[in-house]
Amino acid sequence: MQDKRVVVTGSTFGIGLGIAQAMLEAGARVVLNSNRDPEDDVLERLGKLGECHFVRADLSEVAECSRLIDEAAGLLGGLDCLCNNAGTFTDRPFVECDADDYARIMDLNVRGYYFTSQAFARVVGKRDADASIVCTGSTNGLRAEMESVLYDMSKGAVLMFVRSLALVMAKIGIRVNGIAPGLVKTPLHLEYFGDRPDLLSLLEGQIPLGRRAELDDVGPPAVFLASEAAKYITGQMLYLDGGMMAQQIIWENPYDNSGG
Ligand code: NAD
Repeated sequence: MQDKRVVVTGSTFGIGLGIAQAMLEAGARVVLNSNRDPEDDVLERLGKLGECHFVRADLSEVAECSRLIDEAAGLLGGLDCLCNNAGTFTDRPFVECDADDYARIMDLNVRGYYFTSQAFARVVGKRDADASIVCTGSTNGLRAEMESVLYDMSKGAVLMFVRSLALVMAKIGIRVNGIAPGLVKTPLHLEYFGDRPDLLSLLEGQIPLGRRAELDDVGPPAVFLASEAAKYITGQMLYLDGGMMAQQIIWENPYDNSGG
């Protein structure tokens, strides 16, 4: 990825930050994005790895998607890679979700990817197969989770977005792929599992590799998909799930919760 010009959406913390860091370590020049200013020393820290900019844009707004791409292209003198990553979820039950919940999830997780990719395709124009889009999907795009209807729908859409867009973009030399993480250790997890180690061990007990993904488990696979090494790969979703999706129904309790 040496000197490749990359924009990573939703990248001031969480998975996007892991992708941005791995891109910088691979020699890319990177534009970070979020709808909020970065909180801590993120820009300073990543800036030590290479050229790094930040563009604030709320990608649940259609006009903001193209503004981000235009500004990122301006900062880097063009673009070679877009990582669609900014996404959100709700834990409200199906019967309680209203139109605002629906819009909040779909506008960012689906519409945001669509219009940011469209703007990217326009800026990139026709190329010789050296540009690419990497979308962050989820294992929830293939297997449903209890009371996660809106999020599951949105990630199912990302899976078909990757496949469908790959056909269209192949004509102009842009490859389109995705990474689909299972459980990833992000700041949100700290909030969620901080005082619930029992819940965490219940979940990790169902992951063959026995743990959640760290940010450095998800960044390098995104770099691979964007890189020259993947020049014949398009329309693929790569599952980064510690073996979760390979597993059949479990016959024995894989964790000890017998209390002794
Ligand atoms: P996160 O909430 O930790 O971080 C999301 C990033 O997006 C942050 O930088 C945030 O500021 C930014 N963001 C939020 N709303 C935005 C908006 N409207 N416009 C622009 N940026 C915005 O999320 P995460 O857990 O790192 O998730 C990132 C992606 O990975 C999402 O698409 C999510 O669905 C997916 N994912 C997460 C997990 C997991 O276990 N964390 C698993 C599978 C897939």
